Amino acid sequence: MERKILIIYTGGTIGMLNDPDSNLLIPFDFENISKNVPELRKFDFQVRSISFSPAVDSSMMDPDIWVTLVQLIEENYNEYDGFVILHGTDTMAYTASALSFMLHNLQKPVILTGSQLPLGTIRTDGKENLLTALEIAAAQKNKQALVPEVCIYFQAKLFRGNRTTKFNAEHFRAFRSDNYPPLAEVGIHIKFNYPYIRYTTLSGNFWAAKRMDTSVALLKIFPGISQPVLESLLQAPGIKAVVLETYGSGNAPTHKWFLDALKKAVDRGIIILNVTQCLAGSVEMWRYETGIHMLEIGIISGHDITTEAAVTKLMYLLANCNSNEEIKASLNKSLKGEINI
Ligand code: ASP
Repeated sequence: MERKILIIYTGGTIGMLNDPDSNLLIPFDFENISKNVPELRKFDFQVRSISFSPAVDSSMMDPDIWVTLVQLIEENYNEYDGFVILHGTDTMAYTASALSFMLHNLQKPVILTGSQLPLGTIRTDGKENLLTALEIAAAQKNKQALVPEVCIYFQAKLFRGNRTTKFNAEHFRAFRSDNYPPLAEVGIHIKFNYPYIRYTTLSGNFWAAKRMDTSVALLKIFPGISQPVLESLLQAPGIKAVVLETYGSGNAPTHKWFLDALKKAVDRGIIILNVTQCLAGSVEMWRYETGIHMLEIGIISGHDITTEAAVTKLMYLLANCNSNEEIKASLNKSLKGEINI
């Protein structure tokens, strides 16, 4: 049977157009994308598309849209062999991370891509990104998908989605994954890095979680952070979990007011996850005096998780676990290959 891939166009530069009146890039509908990429008709598999209407700039992405996306994947899961999500680059790493936690027993590729220059422009990076993402989504051996994961494909590299970060607003190479190797590298050939691809061993049918809880805060510490700033964030109404971006291997100031504020929050049942501000490496709170205090007051190590994966993993766990104990246990294990442990 012929393979079928579904493109879900959410928005983003790849499908944007220069508005002559305002001179701003604005999203336009998917019909124009297919006009700009006639190659879509040349594959030896079928390509169909669904388009968000209106298309959304990814700065407007939020968990309700992730729920819409997983619903779309769920509704079309049996009919298609793989999915390509066209998405703005700005929050693509958040969406890829969120989807990895929301989709379960995934046996088919879900590949996110986009571009830095719109498809209609001569030097666009979008055409190669789109065409290769489609090839990867359709790649099979013995009718099994080669990469049954949520991934980002961008500029010749396929990354595990929940390991990515957008790090460059200008270069075509906009994403990196410092703590996990690429799942494929693309040149003349697409070279899959098989030992690093996650093949789910769980039996059971595919399903999608449809709840996310946004009671999460993100706090990046910096030299000079003040007590009122820290306290106002930790006391923000409704907050249930905080991603604390610390220095290096998970270090933070040891001022009494700083540790006291964190301890009070932990004692109130707020989950605090320590992630590093560095792009590569892991939190190891036991290494320095400036880390060990946080371990002692019950702050949880994020290991080598990205901030994007930390925020979305917490949203997923807060909405889908029954107790803080269950959340903490899940933070200390890899759910979808997001941490090395
Ligand atoms: N602002 C755009 C977006 O994220 C940028 C892009 O697509 O690269 O939707």
